[in-house]
Amino acid sequence: MPGFELFGDKERKEVQDVLDSGVLMRYGFDGMRNGHWKAKELEAALANRMQTQHVHLVSSGTAALTVALASIGVGAGDEVIMPTFTFVASFESILALGAVPILVDIDDTLTLDPAAVEKAIGPRTKVVMPVHMCGSMANLDALQKICTKHGLSLLEDACQAIGGSYNGKPLGSYGDLGCFSFDYVKTITCGEGGAIITNNEAYYENTHKYSDHGHDHIGSDRGAEQHPFLGYNFRISELNAAVGLAQLSRLDEFLSIQERNYTILRNALSGIPEVTFRRVPDGGEENYSFLSFFLPTEGLARKAHKSLRENGVDSCFYWYNNNWHYYRKWEHLTQLKSLGNLPQEIRNAVPDYTQTDFSASDHWMGRTISCLIKLSWSEKEMEDRASKMVSAIQETLFN
Ligand SMILES: *Cc1c(COP(=O)(O)O)cnc(C)c1O
Repeated sequence: MPGFELFGDKERKEVQDVLDSGVLMRYGFDGMRNGHWKAKELEAALANRMQTQHVHLVSSGTAALTVALASIGVGAGDEVIMPTFTFVASFESILALGAVPILVDIDDTLTLDPAAVEKAIGPRTKVVMPVHMCGSMANLDALQKICTKHGLSLLEDACQAIGGSYNGKPLGSYGDLGCFSFDYVKTITCGEGGAIITNNEAYYENTHKYSDHGHDHIGSDRGAEQHPFLGYNFRISELNAAVGLAQLSRLDEFLSIQERNYTILRNALSGIPEVTFRRVPDGGEENYSFLSFFLPTEGLARKAHKSLRENGVDSCFYWYNNNWHYYRKWEHLTQLKSLGNLPQEIRNAVPDYTQTDFSASDHWMGRTISCLIKLSWSEKEMEDRASKMVSAIQETLFN
């Protein structure tokens, strides 16, 4: 997945343009910037690649989620549906707005189970936020239908799946809004950065204003701009955007390397009848940043994960025990450990997740192993890795 593996001359050239002028900010300083508008250029390039009308860059993927939710009008006491398997940014962005994260089961797509989503909808639900974890997507058709039926917004967290598609549309462009992260370990990186994409003009207007102190961005005198509503600072810098501009131009190159490496691994593991693969919804194409597969039982998955490590296969994850990605270890959320007082709406309404039955999620996560697909691995290294993995897993199954 990580674009940082292929940081090179293109990236250096874009950054050098910014260093030459010294204009590190994305707004203003028109005369000094030698015609370089890296954030604006990256927004235009992303809009083109993602086939959406509007793109707004921000300082991180977490910021993108927060700004996207804010642009929908999510506020204190509203409920946002999110999966049990995700990154902590999902609930961080929701809580930051005083809203309530409603955790919902995943299915064998390792993303939100549409049936469980529909059951979780209540009078305060405002948004459904599927997270396209590890390069593959939720059943967006089913989720869109549910959102339409109940008058909810669909916000795609495509931070881990940039370049994947669903029914021919780039992931992130299917819902009302989509978010990307360009942090250091994502498929393409800005160092730190994120983006919100949408075809909804009103949401777009809210995103660029909210992420820059409410500035209306009308005219060329920043000091004279109006502030139609309260905002915050989630701006990206020109230095970060410059890196992203180079990386985005290489996205398709990165995706083809990932697909090649993924396919070598998948073909090899397909020879083991006990190994089955994560379901990709009909009409979906992964971005091939991970290969995720199931062992027949939790016990075997634990053993296989251990055996992979012992056989020198790195970069394979057993998310079931992971601190960042699965609800079981989110004690800071379940105990609502915050530095200061949380809003009353949150304290009153966050369910006691230590008591919630997420056995449907556990059923899949307990059996899942996900292997990161690196860009720097050659075909030969991939073949070696694949055969090592096959013997490590077979060793587990037959001992
Ligand atoms: C990385 C990530 C984020 C947050 O992005 P940052 O840029 O690190 O803030 C959000 N959601 C998912 C699924 C991610 O993987």
